[in-house]
Amino acid sequence: MNIERILGDELMPIHEKVLAGVRLDERDGRLLYCTPNLTGVGYLANMVRERVHGDKAYYVRNQHINYTNICNKFCKFCSFYAKKGGPAPYTLTPEQVKERMRQYLHVPITEVHIVGGIHPKLPFRYYLDVLHAVKEVRPNVHIKAFTAVEIVQIAEVARMSYEDTLCALKEAGLDSLPGGGLEIFSRRIHDELFPRKIDGEEWSEVARAAARVGLTQYATMLYGHIETVEERVEHLVRLRELQDETGHFLALTPLSFHPEDTELDHLPHPTGYDDLRNIAIARLMLDNFPHIKSFWIMNTPAVTQVALWYGADDVDGTVHEYEITYQDEAPGERHQVLTRHQMIQMIREAGRIPVERDSHYNEVPQRPEEERLVVLA
Ligand code: SF4
Repeated sequence: MNIERILGDELMPIHEKVLAGVRLDERDGRLLYCTPNLTGVGYLANMVRERVHGDKAYYVRNQHINYTNICNKFCKFCSFYAKKGGPAPYTLTPEQVKERMRQYLHVPITEVHIVGGIHPKLPFRYYLDVLHAVKEVRPNVHIKAFTAVEIVQIAEVARMSYEDTLCALKEAGLDSLPGGGLEIFSRRIHDELFPRKIDGEEWSEVARAAARVGLTQYATMLYGHIETVEERVEHLVRLRELQDETGHFLALTPLSFHPEDTELDHLPHPTGYDDLRNIAIARLMLDNFPHIKSFWIMNTPAVTQVALWYGADDVDGTVHEYEITYQDEAPGERHQVLTRHQMIQMIREAGRIPVERDSHYNEVPQRPEEERLVVLA
């Protein structure tokens, strides 16, 4: 293969750095965003991806529970929170959380992902009860719950420090924190799109507290709205610096913005081209993040298959009941799911090796009958 031809003069210096394992700087990041040579960017990201993970592509069997859509933050990019003419308000009781859990007891789910709006009237006890409810139904499931913005709210109602709040939640069953709650570090974007929500500094403080109490965490980057190339690069570099400091992040999920039903619905939807570029650049810039995800609900399964050759090594999960962003569905039909079989097919068709993982990226041993079912199906 003629590498110079694929990369051109422009990307060859970055190739040298990637080969030597030298950290890319902000200038490299901007160049990767600005070059029209997406194939070259993908080639470089794939080098890193295969060096770390070979042909493996991870997935998890998980369930999402969004406990409330009542929120007092009114972020302009959000279609989830209850509003006049939009989604009707709801808050699940701990008993309803149990019912949701029981609905999928026949599926060997290893992770429950719980997030919600910032409901100002929920007491501290509620969050503990939700965690207890989940563990009562599935004692061994991993609970990934509450973004940093929720942790700030919970700490406020608990009247405790972030660290003490996280310790109490951990004691009640919390195992890790999801990404989200920040979207992008830029102060300009914070002030324009989500001024009522925590800023990058507060988000980082929660991350540091999580690391101190021994909780792992995930990170995200919402792209495709009003952010500039410089702001995307700044976001990646600041996450990288934070990870240098804490070492507790497991994965980054670049999240493709869905403008439908938001205050930004005049903006075009990011394209597959944007999705692949952001995944590839995340892989190249975040040399201290073990995993880069292509979240199939945001990117579509089709783009996710290609993303497995553009830096992504994880496709997220089977995802029962995701309600934050949804597309092409009738009103009231928000449930999205890929069965394990579909997930495996999607990965195999892309030419990678499907590996079921738990929330800490340990491989989940497959029962022989499950393997047989997949082969025969
Ligand atoms: Fe509330 Fe989260 Fe939506 Fe912002 S993104 S309005 S904090 S639910």
